[in-house]
Amino acid sequence: MEESAAKPGECPKCHNTGIVREKDGTCHTCWDCMQAGKLDQHSSRIPESRIRL
Ligand SMILES: [Zn+2]
Repeated sequence: MEESAAKPGECPKCHNTGIVREKDGTCHTCWDCMQAGKLDQHSSRIPESRIRL
């Protein structure tokens, strides 16, 4: 029952994996981490112009 208890500094959505798994089984990039600049494994800098909110 510790699933909701995120560690300090750990993303509660993707758990620092960078990938969020939805309930329907689909996976997508964790937007929270992307915006926070944590996802630098694909490209060092993602142009903000490509990010739509
Ligand atoms: Zn995340």
